[in-house]
Amino acid sequence: MIKKFIQKILGKPSSSHAGTDFGKRVEIPASVHGIDPSLVDERALNVVRTLQDGGYEAYVVGGAVRDLLLGLRPKDFDVATDATPEEVKALFRRAFIIGRRFRIVHVVYGRGREHEVIEVSTFRAHLDNRAAEQVKGNERTSKSELAGMKHAVDSSGRVLRDNVWGPQDEDATRRDFTVNAMYYDPESQYLVDYHGGMKDSNQKILRMIGDPVARYREDPVRIIRAVRFAAKLSPLGFKLESKTAKPLATMLGLLADVPQSRLFDEMLKLLQTGHALASIEQLQKLGLQKGIYPLLDVVVERADTPFVKAALLDTDRRVGESKPVAPSFLLACVLWADVKLGWDQRLANRTPPFPALQESIDEVFDARIGDVSGRGKLAADMREIWMMQPRFDKRIGSTPFSLVEQARFRAGFDFLRLRAEVSEVEVTLADWWQEFSMADDAAREDLIQLVKSEKTPGSLGGAAKSRRAPRRRKPASHSAGASNSGEPSSDH
Ligand code: ATP
Ligand code: MG
Repeated sequence: MIKKFIQKILGKPSSSHAGTDFGKRVEIPASVHGIDPSLVDERALNVVRTLQDGGYEAYVVGGAVRDLLLGLRPKDFDVATDATPEEVKALFRRAFIIGRRFRIVHVVYGRGREHEVIEVSTFRAHLDNRAAEQVKGNERTSKSELAGMKHAVDSSGRVLRDNVWGPQDEDATRRDFTVNAMYYDPESQYLVDYHGGMKDSNQKILRMIGDPVARYREDPVRIIRAVRFAAKLSPLGFKLESKTAKPLATMLGLLADVPQSRLFDEMLKLLQTGHALASIEQLQKLGLQKGIYPLLDVVVERADTPFVKAALLDTDRRVGESKPVAPSFLLACVLWADVKLGWDQRLANRTPPFPALQESIDEVFDARIGDVSGRGKLAADMREIWMMQPRFDKRIGSTPFSLVEQARFRAGFDFLRLRAEVSEVEVTLADWWQEFSMADDAAREDLIQLVKSEKTPGSLGGAAKSRRAPRRRKPASHSAGASNSGEPSSDH
């Protein structure tokens, strides 16, 4: 009893492997950490309880604990446990084992767009590269060999398989930043900390656990994660510790071996989690403005152009307001300059407008999105947004009626709105379409008549307003689709 008490105060020494510091287990009570338990999601609480009732250890872990300590409501919850993925799966009605490199369980609550996933990971064992299976040479052979391996690394130390379970202290040491390596038991409200995460959180330091160089080598994606957390937490005053920041630029080359799909996903996390502008600032500050991923290079290069800047700002604002954002929208904005250039060149060569635009889009996809060619839906959505743009000029006959009914109208319209914001088209054009999309059929006819009678294009919006407000009709259900807006009435 006394021993336990002393350990709680001073920390319990952890298991040891040569040369690795697993830290000391320190249990911090609610009176000290001050986490508000009401910020813990009901479903995460349910997962922890179910696991604990099943006789396992279970904690909220990672970024959720970091955010809780900072008084923020976490956007997603991860749970760590000593139960194996199979044991976790057996306890829940809708649980799925996913991942090969890193097997985890998704426990799913609710259905459709409202569904919520709690990620449950089993405590990982200390990673001893010398004991791991070394994978070299031809990638095809490696993949088939890999399937049967629990723990494998390549010749540069990059971890290819990571499915060996171990005790909590080893799991903590495997995590990236000290502030991401704390465990919170919502039942007892104790916080478990092995690496001084709470102290770093109080001092606003982002510190990689262990030797940063070795940790970036194990998983080069941590380079991008460092940028993301530095950006996300910069408004709160967080800074990367110097030993953590220093090797970033020189180790960038390691990203070349990371699968493109993982890099693409990490790029989207930089750009679509509400900190796009801050991430770009960090990339520039840390000397990482080029070389992470080709499309990201383009984003950084163009971040100061009015259109891309407006798109990035808009994305950050929308995420801040908990509105949906779509990668297709942002990428369509980023590559619009190329599409326009190719389109203008073809128009100058007397290619008719629509084929000219089609050809230009094909060319841009070939040049810029070749590496995400598997993402057919993304490309199709981008194309649709672009192809809609010249159609916004046609405001007579039946064209506006059919355009407004298109499933992706809202995304195309938001794109038009951004173009108007940077004076690429008349603001009144965007206003007209906004009114048209909200109006009932009779008012829509009026708006079309108005275009016909207008002599000076550009004064339409004002004229429309000076007549009478078009009758509104209920927003079309399609407008709630996955556009950058997803809402019936644009608030740009
Ligand atoms: P966010 O708030 O953006 O979700 P997060 O810290 O929760 O940030 P996740 O990607 O959700 O990040 O990962 C959850 C936790 O898993 C992290 O906090 C960290 O402890 C661990 N983790 C995730 N990716 C890595 C990695 N590449 N290397 C080491 N630990 C990782
Ligand atoms: Mg998370």
